[in-house]
Amino acid sequence: MKQKETLLNTMGIDFSHSIDEIGDEHVGTSIDTPLREDAFEMDDDLKIELIEKHFKEIMYVLGLDLTDDSLKGTPKRVAKMYVKEIFSGLNPKNKPDAKLFENKYKYNEMLVEKDITFFSNCEHHFVPIYGKAHVAYISNGNVIGLSKINRIVQYYSKRPQVQERLTMQIGNELKEALGTEDVAVVLDAHHMCVSTRGVQDVNSSTVTSFYSGKFERDENARAEFMKYISL
Ligand SMILES: [Zn+2]
Repeated sequence: MKQKETLLNTMGIDFSHSIDEIGDEHVGTSIDTPLREDAFEMDDDLKIELIEKHFKEIMYVLGLDLTDDSLKGTPKRVAKMYVKEIFSGLNPKNKPDAKLFENKYKYNEMLVEKDITFFSNCEHHFVPIYGKAHVAYISNGNVIGLSKINRIVQYYSKRPQVQERLTMQIGNELKEALGTEDVAVVLDAHHMCVSTRGVQDVNSSTVTSFYSGKFERDENARAEFMKYISL
């Protein structure tokens, strides 16, 4: 027990309270991803090196033989995947810059992009959340390339997440990128921590929404958006 505490303390982690109290209820605590101030003082290479080392320990503790040809490369692969791919959205340097274009054709109706596939990970279990994002905005004279909307969705997905926070982060970013309040976001997602463990419900999906500006005020705008995404 003493040895366990010493190990955890060297990582600066306080395990004196039970962490599972929040975990299974999937409650997020804030709109911002809880990052430390010094989150990016280490560069990617050092992060990969350290995660590799710690993941190797996890596999070792599980009893796996790390000299096995099939397993020996796994710690490095997982570390690279965490830093460069599935958690790359933690680092602001990877944030897509959304260039605005003038809306020359004066299209000021609702623009909807639906069925944007996203893959994220539950921050309570570190297993995938995947689903579709549906996004709408009403241009105030500027538009962004459609692929930029996908990139914004992907960027915030590539973090340990809770679905509610992901939805709000995408919504707030679109408001900022587009310079408009009139933004709507709906996420419909499957949580593998619900389907493959715990209650093992394979059929349920979770729907979250973010409405701002006209979408918040005007029931008709919301209804129009809903009509498009149910097509
Ligand atoms: Zn979970």
